[in-house]
Amino acid sequence: MKHVAIIGAGLGGLSAAISLASKGFKVTVVERNDHIGGKLMPLITEGHRFDFGPNTITMPEVFQSVIRESGADPDDYFQFEKLARHTANHFPDGRTLTFTHGREAMRTEIDRFTNGQLAKNDITGYQEEAAELFRIAKQQFFINIDSYFNCSLLRDMVKVHPFKTIHSLHKSYFKDPQLIQALDRYATYIGSSPFQAPATFALIAHLELNDGVYFTRGGNTAIAEGFARRAQEMGVVFRLGEEVTQIEVTDGLATEIELNHVDYLPVDFVVMNGDLLTQYPRLVSETIRPDFKNPTPSQMEPSISAYVRCIGLTRRIEGLAHHNVFFSSDYEAEFRALFEEHRYAEEPTIYISNSSVTAPEMGEAGDNLFILVNAPATNEGNVIDFDTYDHLINQRLKQFGIDIESDVVFEQRITPTDIEQKFSAYHGSLYGLSSNGTRNAFMRPSNRSKNVHNLFFAGGSTHPGGGSPMVTLSGKLASERIVSSAAQSL
Ligand SMILES: Cc1cc2nc3c(=O)[nH]c(=O)nc-3n(C[C@H](O)[C@H](O)[C@H](O)COP(=O)(O)OP(=O)(O)OC[C@H]3O[C@@H](n4cnc5c(N)ncnc54)[C@H](O)[C@@H]3O)c2cc1C
Repeated sequence: MKHVAIIGAGLGGLSAAISLASKGFKVTVVERNDHIGGKLMPLITEGHRFDFGPNTITMPEVFQSVIRESGADPDDYFQFEKLARHTANHFPDGRTLTFTHGREAMRTEIDRFTNGQLAKNDITGYQEEAAELFRIAKQQFFINIDSYFNCSLLRDMVKVHPFKTIHSLHKSYFKDPQLIQALDRYATYIGSSPFQAPATFALIAHLELNDGVYFTRGGNTAIAEGFARRAQEMGVVFRLGEEVTQIEVTDGLATEIELNHVDYLPVDFVVMNGDLLTQYPRLVSETIRPDFKNPTPSQMEPSISAYVRCIGLTRRIEGLAHHNVFFSSDYEAEFRALFEEHRYAEEPTIYISNSSVTAPEMGEAGDNLFILVNAPATNEGNVIDFDTYDHLINQRLKQFGIDIESDVVFEQRITPTDIEQKFSAYHGSLYGLSSNGTRNAFMRPSNRSKNVHNLFFAGGSTHPGGGSPMVTLSGKLASERIVSSAAQSL
């Protein structure tokens, strides 16, 4: 039986583990943290539960397919609930735009929001375009790609607006600047700026506005727990709290992995789920990987990071939805600060997830606020005083009528440096590489090492990209490659 070692128990690693175990491989998952799920990490206190990491879940079928293809019923592992009016977008002048799903419901809401200006704000045309972008992406990009230079891919590439930005696509459909701003925010789902990321990623609007946003019963961390349970049933061995410190390579093949500098595990294949931009350079000597140089932020731009506060209250805040966004008055200035000036925005857009609205058991004592502000990737220049920034966030929320300062029983801060250290994330990035610009968006490192022939990658920094469904898909793609590679070596 061929042995696969998986480095990291993030969603990409877990999905690869289940797929490979179901194909008859012996699988060991080594994870340096004590929890399973990587950035999808539970934070539990008396009276409150928080999902650190993915709060917005789309494409539930991707998670379900991992379980189903392993021969089990996904409903036995996790259940998804579709949120009706999923995201309340608030603007400084007091207007609120609520995102829901479906063509008719969105027409009604845009008609209300724009005072009957549907003719100038073609939401239906936009939803149709987003659906088409998604259809093409699913067919051409959510698969293993060896080269971006094949004819059918290049033909379809032209149709997905690779040279137009998301913001300019939105300007071609809408006249209302706040509607444009709310939709521009989708660029942050791939850790990028709407003023630089290709319009292709308007496909995210298809997921949210046509299909819908989901919540996992018991909290989104239930996805990782369900994956772990299925993997264990299939014989996958987890070694938690252990770190891979080196990959031994002989004649272009990984032969064993070194654990905690002392222990060795022989391997036939390796899947690197830990961020390849930090772990590939760390675990494989540079002389052995001539095709992959140590990355620097100026050559490989990290995606956006986040400053997060998890706050437990002993009361409910009137009017908060499950997902809430409190927008700044100048989105361009915000992204300029984050990506060009590498600093925190003076007037940040603030996201709050309050999942206890949907699932009261997530906040038995009161609201469970997951507050996220976009942050620049870590570098030496962007040090900030978080006490002062907290004050600014609190004051901004007060202007929107939201008080998060009283009746607080729990508060934990997670900074970009924490994200960098806890998950070995490249400069604290949430999604690996940014997709700012055509090259960054479409030329991500592939799922297979060019120099170590039995080393594969799964996770946010590789193909097809970051975000919980995409990394789950990347685990399946890495598994497919190993299966065909093993078949060829028979
Ligand atoms: C604050 C935040 C908010 C987010 N919001 C959303 C959202 O709303 N929706 C969404 O879809 N996505 C969201 N994301 C992104 C999503 O969490 C990630 O894209 C996804 O979870 C990454 O999964 P991954 O498979 O790449 O692995 P990761 O989660 O990065 O896990 C990799 C694991 O590898 C381990 N590891 C690394 N090196 C080693 C080593 N040498 N030895 C052993 N173990 C190692 C790490 O400890 C880590 O646990 C968010 C992320 C964050 C941080």
